[in-house]
Amino acid sequence: MTVNTQAETHEFRAEVSALLKLVTNSLYTNREIFLRELISNAADALDKARFQALVRDDLSDKDLAPAITITVSPSNKTLIIEDTGIGMTREEASQNLGTIAHSGTLKFLEAAKNEGKADVNLIGQFGVGFYSAFMVADEVVVTTRSALPGAEPVQWTSSGDGGYELASASREVRGSRIELRLKDDAAEFLERYRIQNIVRQYSNYVLHPIHLVVEGEEAPEGGPEQINAARAIWTRSPSDLSDEDYQEFYTHVMGGFVLPGDTPRARLHFTMDAPIQFSALLFVPGRAPMDLFAEDRKSVQLYARHVLVDDNTDKLLPPYLRFFRGVVDSEDLPLNVSREMLQEDKNLSAIRRQLTRKAIKILTETASERAEDYEALWTEFGAVLKEGLHQDGGHRDELIALTRWYSVSTEGLNSLADYVKAMPEDQPFIYFIAGEHAETLRTSPHLEALKSRGHDVLLMTDAVDEWVLQSMSEYEGKTFRNVMQGDLDGEDSEGEDADADATPEPSAIDPLLSAAKALLGDNVKEVKASTRLTNSAACLVDADGSMSRNMERIMRLARQRVHDTPRVLELNPTHPLVERANELAQESPGDPRLETWVSLLHDLASLAEGTIPDPAGTVHRLQTALEAVAKAERAG
Ligand code: ADP
Repeated sequence: MTVNTQAETHEFRAEVSALLKLVTNSLYTNREIFLRELISNAADALDKARFQALVRDDLSDKDLAPAITITVSPSNKTLIIEDTGIGMTREEASQNLGTIAHSGTLKFLEAAKNEGKADVNLIGQFGVGFYSAFMVADEVVVTTRSALPGAEPVQWTSSGDGGYELASASREVRGSRIELRLKDDAAEFLERYRIQNIVRQYSNYVLHPIHLVVEGEEAPEGGPEQINAARAIWTRSPSDLSDEDYQEFYTHVMGGFVLPGDTPRARLHFTMDAPIQFSALLFVPGRAPMDLFAEDRKSVQLYARHVLVDDNTDKLLPPYLRFFRGVVDSEDLPLNVSREMLQEDKNLSAIRRQLTRKAIKILTETASERAEDYEALWTEFGAVLKEGLHQDGGHRDELIALTRWYSVSTEGLNSLADYVKAMPEDQPFIYFIAGEHAETLRTSPHLEALKSRGHDVLLMTDAVDEWVLQSMSEYEGKTFRNVMQGDLDGEDSEGEDADADATPEPSAIDPLLSAAKALLGDNVKEVKASTRLTNSAACLVDADGSMSRNMERIMRLARQRVHDTPRVLELNPTHPLVERANELAQESPGDPRLETWVSLLHDLASLAEGTIPDPAGTVHRLQTALEAVAKAERAG
């Protein structure tokens, strides 16, 4: 073959020069993505060759196997990416590797740089991925031969400053060979493991085999080693896949490592063709990852036509479903699209809608068909899922049905359906009690009357629970009722309840009630005769309409400033201590014991909730009271 060595020198268009300057001088992090870009170009070239072979029969090298080969030469400090794809003619090489296809690209990149947001990922998303080679190479040599019959091979060479040279070359078969003469600070890309890891991370599921040859290493038997899986497991039919296949992919999705016994709690695998084409393979992990509440947590990987475009997108599922992990791959998404553009992509929103619907459906199915798995899932991710009640009004009913709760009188988790089914006929409300510790709540004095009537109470110990409740104020016509708030007497009718504050019922302990209010002053909002106590002497409740104690606690945890809202002290009119204090209030309101007892009743009510606002005072009062008892016993 005669080789025409005649070379021509070309200037880059101004925009390319500017772009290259930006690439080589401003983008240092994540440099390894150049490999993803070059592999993705090679894979595109292979796809184009496959397509052309179908539509015309004069294509050269018809029987050439599609392959991408990466050759590393530590002694020459070169990295070569070679494909057997469509190749380029001289004109194509000049056009494709000397200009920027999309106008506006440079402007955008420069703006991003000026805002300090120049993310190297942008480069591939704007159809300028090839130029990322100059992040790691001093010089790039492309040798390419078009698959068109009679095309001459051509060599394109550039050191990325100013221009490129085009010359004739020798290449026997169609396809392209991109040789990178690596910069001194890019020696890491001469290491086998580094290359293997990058390919596994970004291009594992590129559908063409990627081989790795390391010069100087003994060649393995049977040809160069394939370093990618080269199969998009998610595009295969679920009936063709075994549990082992899924488990292997799950491990890959979770970053290559899961603890023994960590299997997904639920799996969502489907392909949809209309209104938009996409495949999804998602898992609910066996256990909650550490980063579940972190801003930059891992989530779903987005592929466009089997090429990874975003390895961590929160655009595909609403935040309350962020515990799903896996892959979404669409034929209908552009490969070269920025994150900003992705947000507005209509197809992407369509995918998100369908995916959300399917994710909720699989959770619902898991709940009804595999209750044990669902309960484990709920234990890990319930707190996240609950956020959806607030965020997603469109799916509220399904999400309410997915919630699970512990209750005072049952052992395990209950759905609201379970709870309502077990309600005695005369129970008007769905009762709940909210606080930090389930055990404190279970023994709370507030529950005494309800327990004696056989009414169960849901335990809300999660910080989000009360907040969430605001968006599900009723279930199957039953309203929710905080047993620590307002007046339980109103339980037969809501209307009556609303009036209860305005006209309190006269009570046998009225003298004590007004004496106690006078003694406790601003420490309490009100002192009332209780209907919720049977054994305990006193309890504190939140005034109707005021922020609950638990909400105050949560607001403080979230570093919000909240004022202590005075609460209502309820006294049990049938308790001996209350009865005796009432006698004192009636007969000798000036007796110092009255003050001690009233304060003690307040102390006891606080203590039952696990708090002591004034420990020294409490100790002093208890001691005084017990001393009196001891003296009386000795005297008696
Ligand atoms: P993009 O691939 O996003 O279009 P690039 O800057 O990466 O942008 O590449 C520009 C063009 O160069 C490609 O569209 C393609 O036509 C051509 N090209 C790049 N690499 C190859 C290759 N290995 N084989 C054939 N053509 C290629």
